[in-house]
Amino acid sequence: MKLAIICAMDEELAAINNILNLSPTQQLTKAGNTYSVYEYGLHTLVTVVSGIGKVNAAVTTQTLLNHFTVDAVINVGVAGSLIPELSFGDVVIADDLVEHDFDITAFGVPLGQIARMDTFSFIADSKLNDILKTVELTGHNVRCGRIVSGDQFIDSADRAKFLHSEFNALACEMEGAAIAHVCYLNQMPFAVVRSLSDMAGQDNKGVHSFNELKDMAASRAALVVKYLMENI
Ligand code: SAH
Repeated sequence: MKLAIICAMDEELAAINNILNLSPTQQLTKAGNTYSVYEYGLHTLVTVVSGIGKVNAAVTTQTLLNHFTVDAVINVGVAGSLIPELSFGDVVIADDLVEHDFDITAFGVPLGQIARMDTFSFIADSKLNDILKTVELTGHNVRCGRIVSGDQFIDSADRAKFLHSEFNALACEMEGAAIAHVCYLNQMPFAVVRSLSDMAGQDNKGVHSFNELKDMAASRAALVVKYLMENI
């Protein structure tokens, strides 16, 4: 299989490169990002760091799909927890994703609904998720559920509570739904795997936790990628 792996930050892709011990066979730079091709067992991987936020993620995903033929796109990285039961290093596998900051509620449309789009959420590929959800990480929970994305670092207990109650989401981040949106438009199967670096402000320590724990969380997410590569 040929899989694309998109991470928002260098730290997230570095954790994957460390665990898979990859060295590239080909590289291509487009629109400011470098796409690297690797062979891993029987599979080919195309990896890229998109930069942070929905626009960076969308541009990178479409550029990748324009220049490489892949079977699926996997977005891997860290996220904030939206419920007290899930914490640092636990993993959320997205069932579906919503852009929580898309707001045309003035027209009586639910928050997160993208104008004139025929879906509310972007649903991850069930075959990829069937594999991903069988992963076991010693000492850490793995849960499937909704992830919400927006161009905001969530660092407030009220905001975390709101995002959970409004969307029934387990985690928040800044790219997954944009990547999912582009994949939806291209009819490309995708999955989103996020490990929790912070509690999104539920503990009033969002930024502190993110800074302290993002590398630990990125390495948990990378273990899930390794598991996927070995079981797909
Ligand atoms: N100045 C920081 C910005 C990090 S933004 C830096 O450059 O390191 C946070 C990143 O981690 C985003 O890519 C996002 O997807 C993810 N993330 C982790 N916790 C988050 C939270 N609580 N809210 C939103 N995004 C979060």
